[in-house]
Amino acid sequence: MITKLQQLEEEAQVELAAAQTEDAIQTVRTKYLGRKGLLTGFLRNIVSVPEEEKPLFGKRCNEAKEKLSAQIDAALARSAGGKKLASLRREAIDVTLPGRGIRAGRLHPVIRIRREICDIFTAFGFSIVEGPEIELDYYNFEALNIPKDHPARDMQDTFYVDENIVLRTHTSPVQVRVMEKIKPPVRILSPGRVYRRDSDVSHTPMFHQIEGLLVDEGVTFGDLKGILTAFLKRVFGEDTTLRFRPSFFPFTEPSAEVDIRCVICAGRGCRVCGQSGWLEILGSGMVDPAVFENVGYDSEKYTGFAFGLGLERIAMLKYGVSDLRLFFENDSRFIRQF
Ligand SMILES: [Zn+2]
Repeated sequence: MITKLQQLEEEAQVELAAAQTEDAIQTVRTKYLGRKGLLTGFLRNIVSVPEEEKPLFGKRCNEAKEKLSAQIDAALARSAGGKKLASLRREAIDVTLPGRGIRAGRLHPVIRIRREICDIFTAFGFSIVEGPEIELDYYNFEALNIPKDHPARDMQDTFYVDENIVLRTHTSPVQVRVMEKIKPPVRILSPGRVYRRDSDVSHTPMFHQIEGLLVDEGVTFGDLKGILTAFLKRVFGEDTTLRFRPSFFPFTEPSAEVDIRCVICAGRGCRVCGQSGWLEILGSGMVDPAVFENVGYDSEKYTGFAFGLGLERIAMLKYGVSDLRLFFENDSRFIRQF
């Protein structure tokens, strides 16, 4: 009987050693130590054991049960420990891995150019002023000497809110608003969004302009040339060659467009400059006396000049961007390059 008990114990040992999971270990426990378990039931064999061996047999049965029970507990503890360890390993943080950096934001090229230009003119003594984007027809056109029948007022070019209100087509109305409020000397720079009904490779319905105005006694076309030359050399480099071309704007007289020698081909002629070797950069001119009269300035006493330029165009030329639409697509890969 004792030999049989030993066999049973050995079988239990083998099965327990093979049990890898908690469930398998519990199965071993039920099989041998459960209410109807093999070891539990083995004590019943005591009836066939000789009387004098009965105490020893009983003792051995209990010892066997206790031993197996302790082994099963140990196995369960190992299994739980192993599970914990495995999960700890799985969740471990490798502190030697490089961190995920947070990408710093970048300024949009149009904002960069705007700030650069504002800085240059601030150094020349200009103040930065802004005006409304939804503008009265009067300020956008009438006060700037653009009469009702002028082609610039065409429905094709202008977004009308109603008969008397438009989305401003240029930043020039700010000039008038400022001159209505203050007496000369005036030195202002006015950056902002403007709107026109135009959309193709080189036009978008919304774009950015900067307008400048200087009014004082004795301001001449020479002052205009001097300031704009100094400005463009700061933006495009000291070697920049400029030319002033006669032009026409309703609110300046005389008027001039300013070109720079093509920054792409250095004047040899390329696609960007239309083979001319020159790039149109800005429009300018001496303020028309009719505009001064509209704001109550004495045009005999004061003279001044104004200029305006498109920020996207400057950014395209300065950064070598070939498609205007890239500025408005919000592709962070594009912005990150600046
Ligand atoms: Zn060129």
